[in-house]
Amino acid sequence: MGTTQNLAHGSPGAVAPLRQCPFCGKTISRTFTQCPACRETLPDVQQPNAAPVESKRGRDRRVRRGLLYMLLAAVIHYFSGGYSAMSLPYPIAPVVTVYLSPLLFLSGLGLVIYGFLSKR
Ligand SMILES: [Zn+2]
Repeated sequence: MGTTQNLAHGSPGAVAPLRQCPFCGKTISRTFTQCPACRETLPDVQQPNAAPVESKRGRDRRVRRGLLYMLLAAVIHYFSGGYSAMSLPYPIAPVVTVYLSPLLFLSGLGLVIYGFLSKR
């Protein structure tokens, strides 16, 4: 109580990417071209796997979002179609059941299929 701590230099979001020096093994910032500990010139580390990994993650996210859309559409259709015993406090226009939820479902399905096809 009463102790004020300066958290300005403790923010976790501002952490620079680190790598290990191949000569002395010290952990240094990726932005350095020369090791501050052993003064060796560091090789320019390019990561050839960076782009494919990133796009693969994007595809996985697309598939997951598609599944989420399909689930959402199923829930909307379930409630707006009057299949549930629970009655909603507000009326839902039939256009939602007839067009919107199948459209959402199909677009979600399309996202999933597209995500799977672009995986190879
Ligand atoms: Zn070093």
